[in-house]
Amino acid sequence: MQLDDCIFCKIARGEIPSSKVYEDDDVLAFRDINPKAPVHFLIIPKQHIESLAAVRPEDAALLGKMIGLVPQLARQEGCVNGFRTVINTGRDGGQEVPHLHIHVLGGPQPWKH
Ligand code: 5GP
Ligand code: ZN
Repeated sequence: MQLDDCIFCKIARGEIPSSKVYEDDDVLAFRDINPKAPVHFLIIPKQHIESLAAVRPEDAALLGKMIGLVPQLARQEGCVNGFRTVINTGRDGGQEVPHLHIHVLGGPQPWKH
């Protein structure tokens, strides 16, 4: 199920354009509009799940698929020395868009060396 006025549901439906990294029937990955690292993309389920806190046992396969895509997509996007994965959850978790998403951040970070 999707929501009419959810920004990530709109991206999943193609109503808002995105820079796609990967797509299949269940999952979409696209580059973050305001990247915090040289590589920064988001992996979302196409169905509306509000957050990690709303995940149910029957979502396990979908979640497994999303996590399982991370290494392949991170490599494809140019993460050669690792990456960071972040799932902000709810107000206290700093979640701004209430549609579950995995942040994948990586790429060269010269300020850290
Ligand atoms: P959150 O704070 O909810 O974990 O992260 C939301 C992320 O979505 C932010 O990093 C923000 O830059 C990104 N974002 C918000 N709106 C859009 C959009 O319309 N397109 C894309 N590509 N990213 C978005
Ligand atoms: Zn949604």
